[in-house]
Amino acid sequence: PATLLDLLRAQVDTRPDSEAVVELGAERLTYRQLWDRASRVSGGLRARGVGPGDRVAVRYAAGTNWVLAFWGAVMAGAVAVAVNTRSAQPEVDFILSDSGTAVDLAGDVPLPDGEPYVTEYATADDVAALFYTSGTTGKPKGVPTTHEAFVTNAENMARGLGVPRDVGEELRTLISVPLFHVTGCNSQLLTAVHLGGTAVIMPSLDVGELISAVSEERISLLVTVPAVYALALRHDAFAGADVSGVRWVGYGGAPIEPSLVASLKRAFPGAQVFNGYGMTETASLMTILPDNEAVDHADSVGYAVPSVRLGIAPVGDDPTVGELVVRGANVTRGYWNRPEADAATIVDGWLHTGDVVRVDDAGRVHIVDRIKDIINRGGENISSIEVEAALAAAPGVAEAAVVAVADEVMGEKVGAVIHGSGERIDVDAVIEHCREQLAEFKIPQYVVVSDQPLPRNPGGKLIKDRLRKDVEWGDP
Ligand code: ATP
Ligand code: MG
Repeated sequence: PATLLDLLRAQVDTRPDSEAVVELGAERLTYRQLWDRASRVSGGLRARGVGPGDRVAVRYAAGTNWVLAFWGAVMAGAVAVAVNTRSAQPEVDFILSDSGTAVDLAGDVPLPDGEPYVTEYATADDVAALFYTSGTTGKPKGVPTTHEAFVTNAENMARGLGVPRDVGEELRTLISVPLFHVTGCNSQLLTAVHLGGTAVIMPSLDVGELISAVSEERISLLVTVPAVYALALRHDAFAGADVSGVRWVGYGGAPIEPSLVASLKRAFPGAQVFNGYGMTETASLMTILPDNEAVDHADSVGYAVPSVRLGIAPVGDDPTVGELVVRGANVTRGYWNRPEADAATIVDGWLHTGDVVRVDDAGRVHIVDRIKDIINRGGENISSIEVEAALAAAPGVAEAAVVAVADEVMGEKVGAVIHGSGERIDVDAVIEHCREQLAEFKIPQYVVVSDQPLPRNPGGKLIKDRLRKDVEWGDP
């Protein structure tokens, strides 16, 4: 199997003067420039005592410096630690100490510079980077990611999306999601390298800029989270934008509203749209829902990507519903320094995803809920995602989050926080809508209207822990 360095070297050999990385409004690097500069960063790291396996924190804002720091660490044979730059200081301190970072490339620390150096000893089994999980269900966990996992994911992306092998310069992907999570880094930045394309990076997310970049930078592969697509399609600039060059539209990271999928199909008539499901532990993708099923099965995340096998660990009597387990070349073999999490998560070589899924007759995976978010109301299991989908489709509702509210009698009841799309929300009408869609026991007993958009992390995921802590539920 190849290493990341093999992928990059192949492009430097075949298309040295093609654009590899673009930072919007700033620098543009060809493949040759990327290789030359990153190998100097690597040499500079070596001069500072960084050796094989040492951790180098990459904490620059999204852009060419981030990419050079990442490749510099990899060329030095070190481990790039992708740190969430939007974290508060205590969270950053936690990651720096948890990873045992030796060199911290952050803020205005200049990129190291030295004699060019590229390790000859990297193997596919070596860990090239540590990514941290989003921390949605607890403290972020470090996920060692091998060269093989990166390369496998890039190949899964290429095959899953059906990108022609000779796409080369025609593959231009716009990175608006963080580079410190696996979607931006693995499924976009490194897939572009695998295919000889260009990664166009937005230093910070601005929906208006995203829309103009799509036409100005001739973007062909767009990937972002549902929340950003929802904002983009509603944006004034979208109607007049030229999006005819877009051939692949990927979304994922969080559940998407079916009506938004239909809107994406209409908004990008020349493109194929894909739902991609994955996690940090799988170096990005586990499943893909193909374009021809995207609208009719919008509640599904599709089928396993080529390199993985999926299974279901029973949680009840129904063999088609249970916790999704996964194994394959892109799946981590364990967390960084977390023996208890390893023991709980990896059983007989299968990684337990924490996501409860249902598999339909055609073999499509449907995410029911995270195990930790399922509401148990007097013995009935309720999918928070299902209730959120019903609420989000109700009149006047833009966003909804559903969590358990402790109850002395029922154990847990259903609490909903909704945010309106404009005018005042008529809560009675919302509940009435839910009654048409959901069984009686799933109807929220508590509904709180928020005048703020709901709290989400950079991956577009609802931060339900914050709602559990902060929301005053009042009377049912
Ligand atoms: P932590 O593991 O620290 O609690 P996290 O699970 O949110 O955080 P990530 O690895 O970034 O960290 O996210 C993976 C999770 O995101 C999946 O387990 C799943 O719950 C959710 N997810 C990813 N893609 C999709 C998708 N296409 N549709 C619905 N949910 C998704
Ligand atoms: Mg997780």
